[in-house]
Parts: sequence; structure tokens; C-alpha cells
Amino acid sequence: MSQFLETPIEFLKGVGPSKAQLLRTELQISNFEDLLLHLPFRYVDRSHIDTISRLDIESQLVVLKGTISHFSEAGSGRSLRLNALFSDGTGTIELVWFKGIKWVRESVKTQKEYLLMGKPSIFNGVINIAHPELEPVSSEAANTHPLIPVYSSTTKLTNVFLNSKGISKLTEAVLKQSKGKIPEILPQEIVDKFKLPSREDALRMVHFPNSDYEAKLAFQRMKFEELFFFQLKAQFVKLSRKELSVGLMMPRVGDHFNRFYNEKLPFSLTNAQKRVVKEVREDIRSGHQMNRLVQGDVGSGKTLVALLCMLLALDNGCQACLMAPTEILATQHFATFQRMLEGLDIKVELLVGSTKASQKKKLKSRLAEGDIDILIGTHALIEPDVVFKQLGMVVIDEQHRFGVEQRSKLWAKNVIPPHVLVMTATPIPRTLAMTVYGDLDSSKIDELPPGRQPIKTIAQTDHNRLRVFGFMRKQIAEGRQVYVVYPLIEESEKSDLKDLQDGYESISRDFPMPDYQLSIVHGRMKADVKEYEMQRFKKGETQIMVSTTVIEVGVDVPNATVMVIENAERFGLSQLHQLRGRVGRGGGQSYCILMTKDDLSRTAKERIQTMVESNDGFHIAEADLKLRGPGDVEGLRQSGEMPIRFADLVEDEPILRAASETVSSILAADPHLLLPQNSQLLSFVNRKDNQKDWGKIS
Ligand code: ADP
Ligand code: MG
Repeated sequence: MSQFLETPIEFLKGVGPSKAQLLRTELQISNFEDLLLHLPFRYVDRSHIDTISRLDIESQLVVLKGTISHFSEAGSGRSLRLNALFSDGTGTIELVWFKGIKWVRESVKTQKEYLLMGKPSIFNGVINIAHPELEPVSSEAANTHPLIPVYSSTTKLTNVFLNSKGISKLTEAVLKQSKGKIPEILPQEIVDKFKLPSREDALRMVHFPNSDYEAKLAFQRMKFEELFFFQLKAQFVKLSRKELSVGLMMPRVGDHFNRFYNEKLPFSLTNAQKRVVKEVREDIRSGHQMNRLVQGDVGSGKTLVALLCMLLALDNGCQACLMAPTEILATQHFATFQRMLEGLDIKVELLVGSTKASQKKKLKSRLAEGDIDILIGTHALIEPDVVFKQLGMVVIDEQHRFGVEQRSKLWAKNVIPPHVLVMTATPIPRTLAMTVYGDLDSSKIDELPPGRQPIKTIAQTDHNRLRVFGFMRKQIAEGRQVYVVYPLIEESEKSDLKDLQDGYESISRDFPMPDYQLSIVHGRMKADVKEYEMQRFKKGETQIMVSTTVIEVGVDVPNATVMVIENAERFGLSQLHQLRGRVGRGGGQSYCILMTKDDLSRTAKERIQTMVESNDGFHIAEADLKLRGPGDVEGLRQSGEMPIRFADLVEDEPILRAASETVSSILAADPHLLLPQNSQLLSFVNRKDNQKDWGKIS
């Protein structure tokens, strides 16, 4: 690392201790490098000037050219504000300042031409811009730099004049002193090969480009650099884990596996299931710890794969556990396993939060003695006093609900860390998987068991509710069951709960007892009540299940053929896909009805349309990524923050590929980065601070 770049930000002229503190807390900028890596999120082209008469008030930022007149002050004391009028020949808007009034009065001149930038809004029917950035039109900068960089800032920073322009000034000051002090960090060979600008040039160009081309080129370089180092870390960690970590040797395929496979398995495995089991078998006899992600669409039969892998562990003298995100799901897995393993000499138990204390105690001592083979449960499994005799295989179902912390606690439950299989039905777009799960090996179950009919998806607005009810009635008359799901993003949100209750009442009116029986389930219910309601539905005693998203994952009621999703526009696409996967599990034609309000935004419409058109989880996940950006993609928030800042994982896939392939070939030639030309890379992968980031996701 260069000393210059590591200079603390308070050493920059104009940044005192208090501004430095704010930069640190608000934007995580603590040294020169951090500042230089705070890249503009867009540029304003001075030659594209908006006009007041045709101002887009939705715009985040407009550029105007005109003059200021009529300063006036209003209010007093703390509520004092300064107003002015700004005209550009096509119209007039109001400018307003709440802070720095004295400074504005002294330095801003009337009747002089200014370039103005700011975010318009409407107040009292008048367009105004608060705290605009102003720059005299004749200024030198206008001639040299046609593109003005725009930086994100925060209210607190803006209050101390570190708005976009203030940040730009700091950046400019750092760049002025930086000549020859920003070393290259990518191997020179690669810089040459991809014709990238040097790091120093790129940073200069990215902040003060002379043309669109320069800005693009510089951004390419910064994105490449980011993805390269991310991949380097991921691939290096994966490689060294494979090489260095000691894993339990599980070479045997024994009685448990064989008897189940030959005597109990009610159907034959799909090819995809077979392939994944084979991949796992190879992992667990390699002598290294397995860390494998299994992605498979809803209904693709992940549970069975999990069970087979657990049986392999048993055959090698180990115990296994399966951790599910909810009690409902854990209970259901438990029932499935008990049913499937009937008659085999395998002890399966369930441990969840609501397990009685006395029972828990018994389970724990049996577990420690090795008297339980397979333990199924929820978070309760992580408790430190849950001790296994010899835990060899951990399966985590629907991984996106579990944080990394929780996962690593399970690892620690055996001296030699157990093999870990992570199952997720939230399909992760390729690019995202490459970045976020770069250190896990991954398997895909890309095939559904035979005989499944594709689910028909229909979009309906509240307008047509009666027709939807009619359709439900018809399906119920044919002996089918129906889910009606309400969004409940935060289980604590009262208004959402009210939606659910109102909905339940309205459905009860249209589907009255005794002809119809309803179940209701939501997250605030006691576990045993929830379970009772679930069971009634499962047994077919109730025809309609009104619920929140607690049924989202894993619930398996093959006779249910209709999934009605209320306020569908409020769900993420992947979540809608998960919910839809609750039906279509038996033989019958199944339907998913997406209810929305009548007036939807364009994006919302597109999203609903995507659901109607596609049954393919991977396609939907890609679409979700495109429509919402990676920050929002389901599962990512829970699995740690998005670690990529510059690259766009949709648009920049080619860069990601190039970076990833480059890293692979470097590591293929020098797996431990011991060659002299790779010494910088080695010190990077050993650096503590990026380990911190890494810990969040691996
Ligand atoms: P998911 O991948 O969503 O967890 P499940 O494991 O719950 O899917 O499987 C969905 C349903 O498909 C279950 O009822 C399961 O018994 C059934 N199933 C799994 N594998 C097969 C197979 N190879 N052939 C037929 N049905 C299968
Ligand atoms: Mg499942």
C-alpha cells in the first residue's frame, strides 16, 4: 500500500477533525484512498443545460444557466431562511437556503450568470431548489472539464458544505498532490493485456474526465480492479480451504444409504439429483471439508438429496443435522424423514424452540452420547449446549434465512469441522453467485421430478375479486385446496396484520361455515396453534389457508392447487416464485393468482408480467436483478451486504468473467502466490481488513 494513499483524511487542507470524523462515519472515508475511491455516481454534462419552462421536477439533478435576483429573508432565529429568484429566460424558480446564509449573501452576486445544479421540488405550488450548487459561468473549470462529477453525500455532510461539490474539491486537492504516488496494484501484464489505464490515470480520469470516453475507460478499470480482487480473494480462500482444511473422511457407502435407496425410495432420482449426490460423495471422501451450495428450484427435490447425504455421514460413523429456518418447516422435515426412514434402524429427533424443557434435556444427553443419528431443528440447534458426539454433516435448508454467524457456529460443533451443505431455492443469478458465494462449490438441481404440470399464473386486480372467489369455489368443489397469502414484510407491522385479518374476515363471509373450513396462520401466533392450523390444512380438514409468508418455504401440501397472492406488487419476484412453488406439487393443474391494485407503476407491471410469463426460477432471479438492482435481491440482505460497489452485476458480466478467468489462470500457475511477480497479490489476500469483509459472506 502506498503511504500517500494511506494518509489520514484530516491531513488534507480544509478537513479538520470534525469533518474528518463525519467523513468517516457518514461515508466510511478515512484516508486519501477512501476518498479517491468514492467515485462519482454520474456526471453532469455542462453542455446539456435544462430549461425552467421544461423542467423535469422528478429529476434528481438539473443543470440550469441563468441569473439570480431578489434576495429576501424570511423567518427569524433558527427558522431563518434565504430566498432568491432564479431566471433563465424561459421561466423563474425559487432558490432557498436554510444554512450558510451569510456566506451566500456575501459571495453570490445578482445579475451575474451562473451555472446552477440541484434537485428541484415543489413547495406551495412553486418550483424551488434548496441549497443549489452555483458556479460562475465564466469559471475556468467550465472550459477544461465539460463533465461535472456528482458524488453521493449525506445531510450531515451537506451541512458542513461537503455536498457533491465540496467532495469534488477535496478530491481535486488530493489528486493535485498525487502525481507519481498512486502505484499500480494490478499485475502489469494484466493492465497491458486488457489495455487498462494505470491506476493513477484512471483515478484522475474518473473524477475529472475530459470526455465520456475517458470516464468510461476509467470506470472500466475501477470495475475490473474491484472484481479482480474480489475474485482473487474468493478463489484463493476456496483453494486453500480445499488444500489445507482437514475434513472428515467419508469413503463408505454403507447399509443406511443402500437400504434406503433400494428399499425405501418411492421413486427414482432425477438425473440432477443423482449428479448432486455424486458431487457430494466426491467432496466428502477428499479429506477436506465440504462447503457446497445446492441451488434447486422449488419442488426440485432438495430434501431428498439432503437425506441421502446425511445417510452417507451415518454410514461413516457420524451424526447429521438439518437446520431449517422455521419451526413449521423443521417439523415438516421431521415428519417426512420419519415417514421415509420407517423400518430402518435410524434415530431421528426434532429440536425446536418450543420443545419442552424436559424433553430438550433428554434429547441433548442422548445427542452427546451418540444415541441420535439425525437431529432436525431450527436455530435451537446452534445453542452452545447442543453437543454432538460426532457431527459429520450439516445441512442448512433455505440458507438465505441464516446469517453467516449462525453457520459458523455449527461448524464449531465438531473438532474436525463437519461437511456443510447449503440448500437454497432462491435462485441466485450467475453473476451474483460468482461474487457472493465465490468461495462455496456449487451444485444445481436443474430438473424437476417427472410429471409436474407447469403452474398457470394469472394477474388480477382487486376489481375482479369476485371472479377470483368464484374460481376458488370451483376448485374447492373439485376437492382442491387454496392458499391465500398476504404480505407481511416485518412480522411486527400492525397494518399488515390488519390486512390479513380483514382479508380473513372477508373470505369467511364469502366462504361460510359449515360448507367451508378456513385455517389462518401468521408469525405472531404461538407455535403450537400455528402447527395445529397447518396440520388441519395438511389433513384436508380445511380448504382455505389464509396466511402470511410464514408458509413461504418448504410447506408441502400436494392437494393444494391454487395460490392467491394478495398485494402481489409488494413481494419480491423471488419470493413470489417461492410462494408459487407451494402449489403444483401433486398431479393436478395448479394456478397462481397475483392480485394487485388497479394502478401499478411500470416496473411493478413488468415484474408481475415476468411472473406470468415464466416458471423458471433462474430466469426470474435474473429479471429481479435487472429490475431492482443487486442491493435488493432477496437473500442478499440477509447473507451480508453487497460487497461490490463499482461494478453492476447485470451490465458488467463481461468484466466479471474476464476478471474471474484472469484470477483462475494466475492461481493455476501459482496457487500459493509465491512467485515474485505475485507478491503484491499475496499481501492483498493476507490483509486483515478485507478479511473483515470476507467474513461477512463466506
Ligand atoms: P424442494 O426442492 O422445494 O425442497 P422437496 O424436496 O420438498 O422440494 O420435494 C418436492 C416434492 O417432490 C416432494 O413431495 C418430494 O417427495 C418429491 N420428489 C422429490 N424427488 C423426487 C423424484 N425424484 N421423483 C418424484 N418425486 C420427487
Ligand atoms: Mg425444501
